[in-house]
Amino acid sequence: MNVATMEDLYLQQLRDSRNSETQIVKALPKMAAAASNAKLKAGFVKHLKQTMKQVERLDAILERLGKSAGRKVCEATVGLIKEGSDVIKESEEGDVRDAGLICSAQKIEHYEIACYGCLATWAKLLDRADDVKLLETTLREEKETDEELSALATSGINDDAMSQESSR
Ligand code: FE
Ligand code: FE
Ligand code: FE
Repeated sequence: MNVATMEDLYLQQLRDSRNSETQIVKALPKMAAAASNAKLKAGFVKHLKQTMKQVERLDAILERLGKSAGRKVCEATVGLIKEGSDVIKESEEGDVRDAGLICSAQKIEHYEIACYGCLATWAKLLDRADDVKLLETTLREEKETDEELSALATSGINDDAMSQESSR
């Protein structure tokens, strides 16, 4: 699409985030299945439910704009999810993999925080108060998820991973 105005840019980036979230909906069950730590597993499942709601929020915004979701592919999310699946492929089940899964998930959350931060700011500039509410709700969820992942890493998983002996 041709991006000439802030309205265009807003739409382009809404579509990018919508595609990103649908990719994440597919990836989170795999991350949950690969995790050993019960709290980490539960955290991925919880964020899967939130992520499904986040897709609905973007759909509601697009519908209000009278626009389709389009066919944009978020290439950043393709890459970030690929990094996560590499961590799974290249590690055994256990604490070291869990530490890697947390890192992969936090890379995704940080990307999302940047996306929703911009979208919420632009929605304000464009006087779209209803959109602002939805975008800020999602932004809050991404920030909370990032903080919960940090807490899981530093309250045990990293220390447990440090005591993992080489298997080779
Ligand atoms: Fe999300
Ligand atoms: Fe993107
Ligand atoms: Fe997220």
